Amino acid sequence: MSTIFDKSKEGKYGTSFTEKTFSEMSPNDELDDELLRSEDPLLPQVSQPELVRHYTKLSKKNYGVDDGLYPLGSCTMKHNPKPMEDLAKNSRFQAHHPLVSEELVQGNLELMYDLGEDLKAISGMDGITLQPAAGAHGELTGMLIIRKYHEDNNELNRRREILLPDSSHGTNPASAAVAGFDAVEIKSNEEGTVDLEELKSAVSEETAGIMLTVPNTLGIFEKDITEVARIVHDAGGLCYFDGANLNAFLGRVRPGDMGMDITHFNLHKTFSTPHGGGGPGAGPVAVKENLVPYLPVPTVEKSEEGYELNYESSRTIGKVTSFPGPFGVMVKAYAYIRALGDKGLKKVSGNAVLNANYLKEELKNTYKVAYEGLCKHEFVLSGTDIGEGVKTVDIAKRLLDYGYHPPTVYFPLIVKEALMVEPTETETKEALDEFVQALLNIAEEAEKDPDLLHQAPTSTPVGRLDETKAAREPILRWREKEE
Ligand SMILES: *Cc1c(COP(=O)(O)O)cnc(C)c1O
Repeated sequence: MSTIFDKSKEGKYGTSFTEKTFSEMSPNDELDDELLRSEDPLLPQVSQPELVRHYTKLSKKNYGVDDGLYPLGSCTMKHNPKPMEDLAKNSRFQAHHPLVSEELVQGNLELMYDLGEDLKAISGMDGITLQPAAGAHGELTGMLIIRKYHEDNNELNRRREILLPDSSHGTNPASAAVAGFDAVEIKSNEEGTVDLEELKSAVSEETAGIMLTVPNTLGIFEKDITEVARIVHDAGGLCYFDGANLNAFLGRVRPGDMGMDITHFNLHKTFSTPHGGGGPGAGPVAVKENLVPYLPVPTVEKSEEGYELNYESSRTIGKVTSFPGPFGVMVKAYAYIRALGDKGLKKVSGNAVLNANYLKEELKNTYKVAYEGLCKHEFVLSGTDIGEGVKTVDIAKRLLDYGYHPPTVYFPLIVKEALMVEPTETETKEALDEFVQALLNIAEEAEKDPDLLHQAPTSTPVGRLDETKAAREPILRWREKEE
């Protein structure tokens, strides 16, 4: 694949602006010589059709939710309806500078306030911040709140440990560590949930709290969660609930009713913004009454005069992002929640769980299921025993030849050769059946002709990559070829 620079040839151009037209258009824009570059920037010189064709070709090599099923467990591209994108792009939302005075953006503030109220109702919590820009950022915010809470009680010196089940999301231990805590791993039992005996022996006067991913990365609901909360609270710790995948139980159960103190949401997963591609995202954090004073400022408040940003809070952990948060993402989440209503939200979780269980049942006789029983929005298969020398990576690469984005692979770490599948709630039965057929075909190929899998993919623009080299020596930008 050649780059746009390879197509460049001195003197070709794609616009019809001349230097003269520019100066006529903006007579006042003459820059001082000292502000001008001494050399022209090295830009590709191509014709307009060449430019359009180059990028159109590139876009066709891409794969996204608009091409087909995207069963990437844990970090799924969940349903992102197009009308919500249009709303977020509406100039009446977009045209406001973040420093515009509050009287002039009452509508935006009202939307933020109402979204906060909705998320509080959905999670069963009492206070909320919309500031964090990602799920992991929400976790860090939650950890800083736990830190400040223990500091206020003069216990931070000894409460240094955050307990983490071995089935928790990868960002959880990282967030605990960034906030200055020690991550202590709790082993799962054979059902794939927190082992209560392990937990009891791990809690102590040094426990600052626990971080629970629910459903955990095996797609299993922590059925003993209220007991987990009791054990941690008895030891003086706080409970953090990673609610990134709320589509598993939206409208049915609430972390606030399970004894949880803090939770984050991934608006860019469950609430109508795509996850991935580097953002923008939003990871609001909701807390119980006793932790409200610690929330980042500003919070959005409603008073008799209208809506306002409140910076007054004696015990706040401070700001976690500039300005009140990623507004466009909030517009989409608000519109999505209002469009679906209580019944619609409940249907989301019903379909998410139904689709995942359907896939699991169709595949379990061919691929080993890591944990039997009902799963929530996702489940984990194992790529062991599929064919001579065949590994999960071969299965994933072969799926590319069948025109699918592969599931998450080699995560969670507690399952050998893991293949983590999340179909999402909006896939039809026909789409799921086609995906099942592809995986069944691959299992057959693995037995008859394992080399076919080892060499896959063969139908994509690039074949099998050296992934270690790609990770260790990434070339992230074009540079003019050097001698
Ligand atoms: C995606 C995810 C996160 C992290 O969210 P980011 O926005 O990618 O930082 C945290 N926990 C769970 C369970 C997730 O699925």
